[in-house]
Amino acid sequence: MKKTVVAKLIHKRVQCPHCGSRIIDAAKNTHSEVRLAATAGPWQADYYTKCWHCKAEVGLKKLNSYT
Ligand SMILES: [Zn+2]
Repeated sequence: MKKTVVAKLIHKRVQCPHCGSRIIDAAKNTHSEVRLAATAGPWQADYYTKCWHCKAEVGLKKLNSYT
């Protein structure tokens, strides 16, 4: 259980833009952009996933990893 506590401290929570549930954890220095795939238009994500909570398709784009 201790491992879980540490992970929470060093990872950033990325939340579903639709319902606010946590969909993934990002490394502390990783900046990411999260959008709903259905409304993102021509915006291209690096990763697509589905929110387990509201089933929305969410696109994730990795931005600068530094600062
Ligand atoms: Zn959601």
